[in-house]
Order: sequence, then C-alpha cells, then structure tokens
Amino acid sequence: MPTLLILGGTGEARRLASVLPPTYRVISSLAGRVADPVLPAGEVRIGGFGGPAGLAAYLRAERIDTVVDATHPFAAQISANAALACAEAHVPLIVLRRPGYAVAGHRVPSLEAAAELLPSLGRRVFLTTGRQSIGHFRDPGTHYLLRCVDEPDEVPSNVDVIRDRGPFTVDGEVALMREHAIEVLVTKDSGGDMTAAKLEAAERLGIPVVVVDRPPVTPGVPVCASVEEVTARLIG
Ligand code: NAP
Repeated sequence: MPTLLILGGTGEARRLASVLPPTYRVISSLAGRVADPVLPAGEVRIGGFGGPAGLAAYLRAERIDTVVDATHPFAAQISANAALACAEAHVPLIVLRRPGYAVAGHRVPSLEAAAELLPSLGRRVFLTTGRQSIGHFRDPGTHYLLRCVDEPDEVPSNVDVIRDRGPFTVDGEVALMREHAIEVLVTKDSGGDMTAAKLEAAERLGIPVVVVDRPPVTPGVPVCASVEEVTARLIG
C-alpha cells in the first residue's frame, strides 16, 4: 500500500486527506502551533521533525512514497525543509498551493514593508496576518485590530484581539470593520475562498488593502493549484 505524507495545517490538506482512496496509507503532519486544531481524517502526527535531516529520517523510517506539501503558502520554512528532505531521501514531492488573491491592493514583499506603508494609509488597522505577525506592527500612533485563532503571547495596549477561525461572510466582515472604524486592512496573499470575504468587504467600504506577497515555491518542485489536481497526479 503506497504511503503518503501530507504536510498540513490548511483546509486543503484536510480535504486531501479525506478524499484519498483507502488503497493509500495517509499520514497528515501538523506543526502543533494551534491549541485546538481541526484534525484531518486518518493518521495524524503533531510537531516538528527537527529540520530537513529529521524529516528525511522520518521519510525513510515510515517508508513514505510521496510527500504533498499542503502547508500554508506563508509557511516557508517547512516547505524549504520538505524540498531538501525529499531530495535527500529520493522521495517525490508535490506542492499544493491554492492560487493567490486576484486583488491588486498595495502589494508589499514583507510584513516589515506593510508596517512601513501603513501610516500613509490609515491609523485604524485590521490585521489578518496571524498572531505571530503582531511583533512587526509597533507604531504607537496606530490602533490595531488583530484577528487570529489563538491569543498572542503579548498584547500591547493599542491592539485589540479577536479570536476567530472563520468561516467569514462578507456581511459579517463589513459589520466588523464598521464597528471598529477600520481604515485599512492588512492581509497575506494567502488565497482561498475562506478568507476572501474580507477583501470584498473592504472593497464595499472603500477601505485600502495592503497585501503581503507570498514567498516563492522552491524551483523545480511540481505545483498543483487544487486538491483535485493532486489526486489526478497521484491516481491518474
Ligand atoms: P514554518 O515557519 O514554515 O515552519 C517552522 C517549523 O515548524 C518547521 O521548520 C517545522 O519544524 C515545523 N512545522 C511547520 N509545519 C509543519 C507541519 N505541517 N508538520 C510538522 N512540522 C511542521 O511554519 P509556520 O509558518 O509557523 O506554520 C506552521 C503551521 O501552521 C504549518 O503547518 C502551516 O500550514 C500552518 N499555517 C501557517 C500559516 C502562516 O501564515 N504561516 C497560516 C495558517 C496555517 P522542524 O524544522 O522541527 O521540522
């Protein structure tokens, strides 16, 4: 029976684990960042592997036949590790990356660049860039609304935190942005329908959007844009 390792932490990774036929042994791997994760179907392992060497050793020990890197487009470290480990262990790797947002917005290459740009756009900022991003946004003259799954370790006094993992609706996002008098939205170019409601809401309200570009995929690794593309590639 072929064994597939899915590097997960996304809705697509969960969907992939649930649609593969029982002729596959499927192991999903989660980083363990979220306190109460939504678990995929089938076998699940949680926690880091110990860098590329640890992942390569795991691939050999579990006799993994194929790895699907279905991690979040901004989880750059694990994706780089997967490319190195798969090359070392001679295991085929497929990257599953949903397409990015079509919105133009104010495109920036990094969270640092987003923080630099913000004061020119507004002082009441809706941050949807994850709890670990809060350290980049330190302007004392700005008020931040941070939406994230888990509470950040440290919350400065000019930051309000809303804990929510969605799904979100356009009407709900409009109401939230109005309630908090939001002047500018910051998002990563994560892509996916789940999070697109905020973009439509911002457009409806005429609120500028700062979009942080995603890091590139390792050159030479095949990329699929959907779960269906991955299954077609695996099963034919
Ligand atoms: P990262 O910076 O790319 O990875 C840091 C380290 O975490 C990796 O070196 C690896 O540790 C471990 N790791 C990450 N993903 C793993 C996985 N699926 N299974 C086992 N170990 C994993 O990752 P991140 O940005 O912190 O994201 C962590 C997880 O949250 C990912 O699974 C990702 O899909 C999910 N996520 C991330 C974001 C985001 O914006 N970054 C958003 C939503 C969900 P070792 O080196 O010890 O193996």
